[in-house]
Amino acid sequence: MFDADRQNPLPAEDYGAVRERPSLLSSSLVGSTNRGRVVQALFDRGPSSRAELARLAGVNRTTISGIVQPLLDQQFLVEGEPVPAGEVGGKPARPLWFSPQARPICGILLMPEEVRSCLVSLEGKIDAEHREPLPAHPSGPAEITERLTACVARTLASARRRPLGLGVAVGGMVDTNRRNIIAVNLAPVLAGYPIGEILAGRFGLPVQIDHHPRALLVGDRWFGKGRGMRNFAVVYTGEVLGGALHLDGHLYRGVSGAGGELGHTFVQVDGDVCYCGRRGCWETIATLGWLRRRAAAAGLPEPGAIDSRRLVALAEAGRPGAAELLDTYARNVAVGIANLQQTVAPNFFILHGDVVGGGKRMVDAIAAHVRRLVPSRPGGEVSFDTGDTEDRAALLGAAGLVLSDLLHFPL
Ligand SMILES: [Zn+2]
Repeated sequence: MFDADRQNPLPAEDYGAVRERPSLLSSSLVGSTNRGRVVQALFDRGPSSRAELARLAGVNRTTISGIVQPLLDQQFLVEGEPVPAGEVGGKPARPLWFSPQARPICGILLMPEEVRSCLVSLEGKIDAEHREPLPAHPSGPAEITERLTACVARTLASARRRPLGLGVAVGGMVDTNRRNIIAVNLAPVLAGYPIGEILAGRFGLPVQIDHHPRALLVGDRWFGKGRGMRNFAVVYTGEVLGGALHLDGHLYRGVSGAGGELGHTFVQVDGDVCYCGRRGCWETIATLGWLRRRAAAAGLPEPGAIDSRRLVALAEAGRPGAAELLDTYARNVAVGIANLQQTVAPNFFILHGDVVGGGKRMVDAIAAHVRRLVPSRPGGEVSFDTGDTEDRAALLGAAGLVLSDLLHFPL
């Protein structure tokens, strides 16, 4: 699999398995900060000429050439067809973009019931996707390791070039510094699982891990609707509720990655008991468990299988009780979003997970409630969009974790 890269490797420091912060190129070539800025500018605005990049990155043409040439030599970037100069004349500009030959990133999604892995190109194309179910009652961590590494090995076997690294989105609490899993509610065997060390040891590639909702945000930032945004938030709903914040151009993790537990922010004093043991968490009123109970109480058909998609379909079919439940559910989701808006004003929210299935009607209902709950102010217009399909977004996000680290982009 990537023999060509083994014969002509980058300096060893560039993909050392255990380095805290691997760099993309030898730091003796150019400052990594400038390189990160240039590549980030490309991600944010698409194919661009050297002159445009120089302007965007705030550096001169000589510096840009010094940064770009090694990236071209390594087939990280490629030059497109010349674009004729405008009326002002001058040399035709050749836009730079990510090379289809560039080394890919391996994205991994670890959920309680299965592991998925794929290769992600720098253009955000997903390839070589594999999945492996995880045992419901594993005998121990070794069984998890076996399934996990088998899945990743199948994906890596398809890579034509040595991947830049492995990024893992975990459906549970993680320690991003130690690259350990702290706890996964539905898979107790994963508590304390040193996934970073295991994958780095097995595959000899840099590994980054993060919490699933934060990975969604990172995926949106590099490959999705968060491209080029200084401020936005991601909210994920489904069986659980989570989210993440991108503030002033950076992912906000909180101390040791403890931030972003949005599902357990309080919205109802003395509310229902949450699985975390406290009462009135946002998660108790804006997840599928709540929706199923209310659907049963409202007499809707098959309440155990209700989700946003079905709820909208029932409301549109005029089923009694469905439109009211849809509105209440949308309001419950909106309450937490309104709190976030009032606290840090990201102004732009990308919704992921179950509510996406409810389409425009669900998103509009949530948006209307948020606008009702948040006082309007000039420049404070709140907007909404929906993310990629759930699995794709998480895999792109997992890959984005590696990208952020390689570019020394301080997420
Ligand atoms: Zn809770």
